[in-house]
Amino acid sequence: MYSRRMDHLPPYLFARIDEMKEEKQRQGVDIIDLGVGDPDLPTPKHIVEALCAATRDPKNHHYPSYAGMPAYRRAVAEWYRRRFGVDLEPMKETLALIGSKEGIAHIAEAFVNPGEFVLVADPGYPVYKTSALFAEGKVYEMPLCPENNFLPALEDIPAAVVKQARMIFINYPNNPTAAVAPLSFFEEVVEFAREHDIVVVHDNAYSEITFDGYRSPSFLEADGAMEVGIEMHSLSKTYNMTGWRIGMACGNADIVAGLGRVKTNVDSGAFDAIQHAAIAALTGPQDSVREACSVYQERRDALVSGLREIGFDVQAPKATFYVWVPVDDCMAFAAKLLDEAGIVATPGVGFGRNGEGFVRFAITRSVERINEAVERMRGLDL
Ligand SMILES: *Cc1c(COP(=O)(O)O)cnc(C)c1O
Repeated sequence: MYSRRMDHLPPYLFARIDEMKEEKQRQGVDIIDLGVGDPDLPTPKHIVEALCAATRDPKNHHYPSYAGMPAYRRAVAEWYRRRFGVDLEPMKETLALIGSKEGIAHIAEAFVNPGEFVLVADPGYPVYKTSALFAEGKVYEMPLCPENNFLPALEDIPAAVVKQARMIFINYPNNPTAAVAPLSFFEEVVEFAREHDIVVVHDNAYSEITFDGYRSPSFLEADGAMEVGIEMHSLSKTYNMTGWRIGMACGNADIVAGLGRVKTNVDSGAFDAIQHAAIAALTGPQDSVREACSVYQERRDALVSGLREIGFDVQAPKATFYVWVPVDDCMAFAAKLLDEAGIVATPGVGFGRNGEGFVRFAITRSVERINEAVERMRGLDL
């Protein structure tokens, strides 16, 4: 019944974990869910108010423009200038997305021919592979290992693969490993992409979720990045707006245009009222972002120190709301955690085979719940 393409889609592990979790809940278990990469904090009030006002205005009830309202694209460019010192031409070098997942899923269609390679970090956000597969490209998995600070080793990619490679996906701050990358890594990627004529797609969903004074760069800050690449960004994690579905693609004008052409044929843009709310988010007060980071930082400290106390060798991440913890067998570990402690964590293999040996904890729950989770783990033979 289904196309062969569907057979190649990775099994959606998260749906299975959800089922197991619901089964436990039906049995009355008080589940502590540290699985979801979705902020528990609400969207800041001024953004919600902007949506309400814009929704009441009939001007916003029609089909939006495909590429996004000029005012939204200007707000994106302004934010990039303020935040990263990157200059963007709003109408050429920015594009509204219905969440960055949408842009990621569609971008390979515009640049990858059947049989060409797409270089994808493994473990990684599953949608990079999906994008490649829908374009009938071949996926080459670049392993992310602790020995290399969870950065892909570009020099290890076989020459035959590089020759047929058309696109590379990178993502720092990284989901699921919580690793960060220095600007020098992005410069290395620019060099590599230039030399081999590869389109770079950097996913920067977590640039604002940082701790200990760490400032995360944009890929577009790297010299030459605007010639070879594009950055996907989103309001989801920064402003607790995951449900709103609004993001942006920024960078090289031809790459932005290619993605725009695919989208014109698939969707009809993001609801104008949501774009008005997004403008309020990007141009309004940013205190909520700092407050959210200090909430996550406190939770990170609680989880990391708790896990260390009970014997885990865990690094305190500088960014993202994840903690990536080394374990023996990740599926067995996650199953035991759920079964015996009512805790949901995501097994690393859900993000690719090189995720084996790790589980991902999301700190999207309160310090009290995180401490309770650590207490429950203390009693287990893990
Ligand atoms: C959450 C997330 C996204 C997507 O977010 P949107 O809500 O679609 O903007 C993209 N990449 C990574 C790595 C994420 O974790």
